[in-house]
Amino acid sequence: MKIILLGPPGAGKGTIAKVLTEYDGSVQISTGDILRAAVAAGTELGKQAAAAMSAGNLVTDELIMGIMEQRLQEDDCKKGYLLDGFPRTIPQAEALQVLLEKMGEKLDAVLELEIARDIIIDRLTTRRTCTQCGEIYNVKSKPPKVEGVCDVCGSNEVVQRDDETKEAINNRLEVYQAQTAPLSDFYKDTGLLVSVTSSDKETVMAALEPKIG
Ligand code: AMP
Repeated sequence: MKIILLGPPGAGKGTIAKVLTEYDGSVQISTGDILRAAVAAGTELGKQAAAAMSAGNLVTDELIMGIMEQRLQEDDCKKGYLLDGFPRTIPQAEALQVLLEKMGEKLDAVLELEIARDIIIDRLTTRRTCTQCGEIYNVKSKPPKVEGVCDVCGSNEVVQRDDETKEAINNRLEVYQAQTAPLSDFYKDTGLLVSVTSSDKETVMAALEPKIG
């Protein structure tokens, strides 16, 4: 399946993407993960993205399209992909349409997760991430067995992301409203939009069924 996951930070896009990858082997492509890996590795891309990311602002459309044009042509995308965190602006969505047309591909659906702001803030301020393998924890509902140590890879770098402080989160939500929320209407017009108010697996699969069934 070829799906865009739309929704504010903390809505559960990454979690749903993982569920959907198990469904048919489609690959999850998270632009946030790609950029965080580049920052951690100190690459030129990482250097260009770091300041905007830690403030909770978007990096430029040019930078993102450069990443995605390459990524979508890799072999593992042949089985399908779940775009997590991309597109984030109308120009990115338009550029994606052009790219897909060029590649002769069509999206199956745009899954929009609509989650209340207070739930999002609570989720994000309590979220912790392993900087080594990307595993996600939550200090309330899913703490690592040993504080600060990753259950999966054993690194002692389970930390709060610097864009998950209260200030950065508020900014990310404002940026979402201003720049990304308009994509909902953009995709409604294409007939691809499926909106759900819960990131629960059964609810999401039932809503997607007519598009991917
Ligand atoms: P995420 O993990 O998806 O919340 O992304 C983390 C950060 O990476 C965002 O706050 C942006 O700074 C940057 N980012 C990720 N995806 C995009 C995108 N499609 N367009 C612009 N910036 C992005």
